Amino acid sequence: MIRVGLTGGIGSGKSTVSNILREKDIPIIDADVISREVLDIYPEILEKIKSAFGSEFIDCKGQLKRRELGNYVFKSEEQRKKLEGIIMPYIKKEIFERITNCDKLGESLCVIDAPTLIEHSIHKDMDVNILVWVDKDVQIYRVKSRDNLSEEQVLDRIKSQMPLEKKKGEVNFIIDNSGSVEHTRQQLEKILASIMKY
Ligand code: ADP
Repeated sequence: MIRVGLTGGIGSGKSTVSNILREKDIPIIDADVISREVLDIYPEILEKIKSAFGSEFIDCKGQLKRRELGNYVFKSEEQRKKLEGIIMPYIKKEIFERITNCDKLGESLCVIDAPTLIEHSIHKDMDVNILVWVDKDVQIYRVKSRDNLSEEQVLDRIKSQMPLEKKKGEVNFIIDNSGSVEHTRQQLEKILASIMKY
């Protein structure tokens, strides 16, 4: 089975590309979904978060206040790294277990959709990596429209991520999603055709 890493930056069009892949019935392992599911699968994560950040991020039902904790760690790289240090090992474990399951099911291809694929070195365990890239001005415009944010808020979010230009050097294929969705679909078709030859 060929393991394909799919990544991008905020608003680069990663969800758009993964939706096209989903339409084609290609199995997708979604790291964002896993980052929520691990909290139910491994209750010890909540305990670790409580010890590290205090109980103010746990609600009266014992659930994590994701948004509040997200806003808190977004302001400090040190705190963000602390949270990632707790949760990432569980996310990685789940990703690799699900890859093994896909393989056992006899799939020929499996896509791992992860916004921080490269930041967390998961790309090194993939056979092929694809970056969804977009021109910076288009990226700002699309995130502003999608998330109803100011230009400054969008720039803060873009700045907090590894630059898309740096990610370019780490992948096998780049999809330029600055144009139409149709153009993106065509690029994806070509990439899939060459991946199937691996
Ligand atoms: P990501 O998942 O990388 O954050 P999305 O796929 O959600 O990005 O795309 C960001 C926004 O831009 C969404 O509102 C999406 O509908 C829109 N979008 C994505 N690709 C295109 C495109 N090629 N043309 C026009 N709008 C697009």
